[in-house]
Amino acid sequence: MLMYQIKNFCIIILQDIRIYEGEMNINENYLNLEQSYLFSTVARKVNEFAKNNPDKKIIRLGIGDVTLPLCKAVIDAMHKAVDEMAKQETFRGYGPEQGYDFLQNAVKNYYKKRSVELEISEIFISDGAKSDLGNILDLFSKDNTVLVPDPVYPVYVDTNIMAGRKVVFANANGENGFLPMPDLSQKVDIIYICSPNNPTGAVYNKEQLKQWVDYAKSINAIILFDAAYECFVSDENLPKSIYEIDGAKDCAIEFCSLSKTAGFTGTRCGYTIVPENLDKLNKFWLRRQTTKFNGVPYIIQRGAEAVFSDNGQKEIKENIEYYKENAKTISQTLDECGIWYTGGKHSPYIWLKCPNNMTSWEFFDYLLENIQVVGTPGSGFGKNGEGYFRLTSFGSKENTIEAMKRFKTLFKK
Ligand SMILES: *Cc1c(COP(=O)(O)O)cnc(C)c1O
Repeated sequence: MLMYQIKNFCIIILQDIRIYEGEMNINENYLNLEQSYLFSTVARKVNEFAKNNPDKKIIRLGIGDVTLPLCKAVIDAMHKAVDEMAKQETFRGYGPEQGYDFLQNAVKNYYKKRSVELEISEIFISDGAKSDLGNILDLFSKDNTVLVPDPVYPVYVDTNIMAGRKVVFANANGENGFLPMPDLSQKVDIIYICSPNNPTGAVYNKEQLKQWVDYAKSINAIILFDAAYECFVSDENLPKSIYEIDGAKDCAIEFCSLSKTAGFTGTRCGYTIVPENLDKLNKFWLRRQTTKFNGVPYIIQRGAEAVFSDNGQKEIKENIEYYKENAKTISQTLDECGIWYTGGKHSPYIWLKCPNNMTSWEFFDYLLENIQVVGTPGSGFGKNGEGYFRLTSFGSKENTIEAMKRFKTLFKK
């Protein structure tokens, strides 16, 4: 009995020691994130220049955000929804985590117009593509290897580094028109594709996407397809959704957002498609969302529904056309100056090769000093972005025209 008591006493002491010796561990993967100085450096340089040259008008073509207001159809629908929330009979509390069926149905019909059939259970409404692109990684093991194009939207790399996953890169460059194709000898588990691309504006055609789908299926990988700019695609033959490609429902999850297509960057609504064919992933995503997410506000979902109405579609197309006119102004100028670029046709972004072999930051300084036009240095989006530069069409028409007039004074041959 005494031995027993001593033994128990020792166990308690040992357990205590273990508690006190044990350390609280935090996710140190965050220390592996590279600090991005891109936009802060741009802002600092622009502010310094403005302070020293108060008489010079600076034009910003580096904007990565929409500038036109929400369209009338959306505003009307949201006003109506606000009024519903004010009455007890029509008030709404928690909604379904995966979205109201009125919005899921609107998305379903939107895809149907492009001959893509979706089940309601495959459509998940969210507060935007960025959070879903990060959150989807909850469903994958840390041991997976991830393939990310370079240059690209920084969220893909950073969310995987936070989870401690190994990231390898697919090189996008002038030779492949910034549309890298699969390296069949490479074994990866998760593949990111962004088309139309941010920052390059490059768009895959159906044959190219088919190669990615076939490759993913052959190595049993998942494609995470970011279609945030699908609305900018205006050529019927170019794919807006990866599900326009045979076999994609067996290997691809698609992320879409109303941010760039309907001016929802501050309003927040998107949708993610997880096909039933990806059996476990579809079920796990539903489980993940119902556990960690409580849905998009009713008022916002009514606004989003209106985007897909006939009026809504007409009105958002007018906004997109406005941006695309700006893109045309920029690309015509680059043509006249004999400067190589991609994008601008099916995308709000124009990605150009810096003239005279300047580096991205040299070109940034050169434009700011000489013509007071601000863009985004390509090197901030990945190592292959060095020597390139991003201009966006999200500015006003007048400013874009003025900026390009100035541009020609420097580079027109
Ligand atoms: C802007 C953007 C998004 C959209 O993000 P939201 O969270 O929906 O605003 C997604 N992917 C890319 C590549 C983008 O540029």
